Amino acid sequence: MSAIPLISRLPPLPAVRDLLNLYRLQAVKQLSQNFLLDPKLTSKLVSAAGKITNGYVCEVGPGAGSLTRIILSRNVRKLIVVEKDKRFEPPLEMLAEASGDRMSIVWGDVLSHNLENAFPEESKCDWSDPPPNIHIIGNLPFNIATPLIIRWLKDISERSNAWVHGRVPMTLTFQKEVAERMVAKIGTRERCRLSIMAQHLCFVDHKFTIPGRAFVPKPNVDVGVVHFTPHITPKIKAPFSLVEKVARNTFSFRQKYCRRGLETLFPTSMREEQTQILLKLADVDGTLRPFELSVEEFNRLCQAYSTILEKFPSLERYNSRSKDGFDDTLLY
Ligand code: SAM
Repeated sequence: MSAIPLISRLPPLPAVRDLLNLYRLQAVKQLSQNFLLDPKLTSKLVSAAGKITNGYVCEVGPGAGSLTRIILSRNVRKLIVVEKDKRFEPPLEMLAEASGDRMSIVWGDVLSHNLENAFPEESKCDWSDPPPNIHIIGNLPFNIATPLIIRWLKDISERSNAWVHGRVPMTLTFQKEVAERMVAKIGTRERCRLSIMAQHLCFVDHKFTIPGRAFVPKPNVDVGVVHFTPHITPKIKAPFSLVEKVARNTFSFRQKYCRRGLETLFPTSMREEQTQILLKLADVDGTLRPFELSVEEFNRLCQAYSTILEKFPSLERYNSRSKDGFDDTLLY
């Protein structure tokens, strides 16, 4: 078994590739397992998180620990890893032991795991302070990457979960196309609901792209590494669910004038009138395409929609796509 060169503060360890062979750890498709084994790339990914020395880190989906050992080698104070697949127990236990009590393992689903207690009280910062030395890092499984970031953006908006500790930054991988959507600028082909949701809550930076061939097994897509830093003040001043609803409806007819998607916020009987009122209140040109709207215009649309909801509170639950969406008559 070949040994990898000594990593600072960790004893010499077998190479991850050898551990995968030793324990016959073949990738499981259902868990979107694509391992990143090239030390240059794992190092580059961890460096994208910025300075983590002396900090607290949560790694999502460590697998056999290729990123984990880089994180530990940066002399972090504490590392917590969340992994669903118990087959990785031997290599992760080996790392935990080598870490000198700095690493703990949570076996479970990151989608339902609350990170509020993962970091100590004394590392907490105020929201308006610079981000704390707490980091979330992960080579995410593709199948949960989008639901997970949506969930965490909601948590950021509510300052819950890991974000009770302040503006905790995240460095995460996504399918390249998803990464491009998250950073997409106004007027571009990639601009979508996810661009609005991510950019209104965070400064989002697509750091670099890793070619699919760098992973084992090789996925059919390339992978984007994205860094998120929560804004002190969200750019849209409305609850997460309301912003999400307005963005989702607006983009439901991507190539049409934005008023077409906005109309779907209202039942047919009030659609025309209320859409006109909405656009007027928001001072938005209804003939712009959804991808031509700025985050500030979405802010005004959300404010205007909130004003209309004050008059028609039951509209909040109206969903034009749901089979049991409101009967128009219920609303008056
Ligand atoms: N970090 C390793 C690497 O870079 O080689 C593995 C990355 S692999 C893309 C994704 C990892 O996330 C796998 O280890 C997989 O078992 C784990 N995983 C998948 N779904 C998960 C979930 N819901 N919660 C926690 N871990 C999950």
